[in-house]
Amino acid sequence: MIWLNSYEFLINDHREDIDMNQRDITDADIALFKSIVAPERVSKGESIIELHSKDESFHQRCRPDVVIFPRSKEEISNILKLANERKLPVTPWGAGTSLEGNPIPSMGGIVLDMQEMNRILEEREGDFQVIVEPGVVYKDLNKKFEKKGLFFPPDPGAPATIGGMVANNASGIQTLKYGATKDYVMRLEVVIPTGEIMTIGSNAVKTSSGYDLCRLFTGSEGTLGVITQITLRLAPLPMHFTAALVNFNCIEDTTRSIYQIMCTGIIPAALEFLDGDVIDAINAYKSTQYEEKPTLFMEFHGSNEAGLLEELTIIKEICFSNNCSVFESGIGREERNRLWEARYDTFESMKNANRGMEIIIIDTAVPLSKYPQMVDFARNESISNGIKGYVFGHAGSGNLHMGLIKDPDDTKQAETAMKVNDAIVKFAIDLGGTSTGEHGVGIGKRKFMVHEHGVSLEVMKRIKDVFDPNGIMNPGKIFFNLSA
Ligand SMILES: Cc1cc2nc3c(=O)[nH]c(=O)nc-3n(C[C@H](O)[C@H](O)[C@H](O)COP(=O)(O)OP(=O)(O)OC[C@H]3O[C@@H](n4cnc5c(N)ncnc54)[C@H](O)[C@@H]3O)c2cc1C
Repeated sequence: MIWLNSYEFLINDHREDIDMNQRDITDADIALFKSIVAPERVSKGESIIELHSKDESFHQRCRPDVVIFPRSKEEISNILKLANERKLPVTPWGAGTSLEGNPIPSMGGIVLDMQEMNRILEEREGDFQVIVEPGVVYKDLNKKFEKKGLFFPPDPGAPATIGGMVANNASGIQTLKYGATKDYVMRLEVVIPTGEIMTIGSNAVKTSSGYDLCRLFTGSEGTLGVITQITLRLAPLPMHFTAALVNFNCIEDTTRSIYQIMCTGIIPAALEFLDGDVIDAINAYKSTQYEEKPTLFMEFHGSNEAGLLEELTIIKEICFSNNCSVFESGIGREERNRLWEARYDTFESMKNANRGMEIIIIDTAVPLSKYPQMVDFARNESISNGIKGYVFGHAGSGNLHMGLIKDPDDTKQAETAMKVNDAIVKFAIDLGGTSTGEHGVGIGKRKFMVHEHGVSLEVMKRIKDVFDPNGIMNPGKIFFNLSA
């Protein structure tokens, strides 16, 4: 491929891919799939097709032609070989909990639902490692390892699979202390469109050997190949917990506290920000009576209670010096669960407060010093455009979410909401941040890719071509550029 200085090719190239991928799946293809996997695991049933046409986002549904439930890497290898020869789109599917349209089969074709590859293959607690198939749900893994004192920390809240989390490089409320999924992926087995099966990465904690293909596949959103086995690092479960729920009178006091807490060198396990409107929605949904003010939820982990209590005293002083109105804290896991219960229902609470509406979930991240500026901009942008918005996020890691509410039947409002979304995302990129802190590019963020990555997007596209020259893997994601 010729090196081009213009990004124009990114648009043209993938429009060509899309034309190429408009191949119909024939009865002969279906018969061949049924010779690769047991016929009952090849489905064109209405409810299965419908279920795999949409994730948890507002993005437009798109129906696959067929859904296949593979059970082994060999089956996947044979399916990919056939799909590659016939240039049929293939979209891997975990639990469909994505928030950016990542697993929506935008070009139809085959969905590979990985839920039947859900075995924990090897427990290697001596090495703090586990080998799993991609369909294992991370909550089930953590339940199993609890009695062994180990856990896989990235925690998106939704019932996601490990495969989906690796493919999206998911994280969650404890990323601040423990890192994102990429920090736990040691080794992957992947099948690429030629049908070749590769093992990448190492079981050693350290390696300087060659290019880091594990990192390349982590966050690739099913656009390079199918992940069929994952070796994860596990962390020791924390022994002691403290938690705090703090209300402030204004956003400025809250964001100043976040910055000052992070300056102390104390690393909270979680530091979450919710604005008063989110608390209002939570109160309505859960019949709670929290003060409807800007709020911080905090959690700290340590090896002894005395140390944690000392840290809590410092945090308390900071919050009071910034005029907090309520500082409620507790020690131990039960107290932590009590104080945090509301945080886990944020998404459901917003849905409940806005029945019949669609929610655009914004997911940007900025350097910590820019967080107050980011919160201000996001709030002002939604208020000044008359779009209802809920601001919340994993504040300690600079990750800002916003739920923008739009009426699906009001085209003008939908356009305004999308303009607000675009302005907020571009502002985050211009502050040195990113269009997506954890949800991935999917459909929703692809229009920002040129703005965020410039010429390096061209290099990403060339890497994609090495693995997937026919563009069959999850087509229409990451590179398909509509209007950046
Ligand atoms: C209420 C709610 C809260 C959430 N909170 C968070 C949060 O705090 N942090 C966060 O990071 N995310 C969050 N999410 C988003 C979502 O849970 C994560 O992105 C998660 O990683 C998706 O996993 P999944 O198993 O549902 O994958 P899917 O949505 O099914 O797929 C995700 C992507 O991975 C690809 N894929 C799936 N399996 C494979 C495989 N075996 N090989 C190759 N590619 C594959 C798919 O093609 C798709 O591109 C939230 C979602 C909801 C609904």
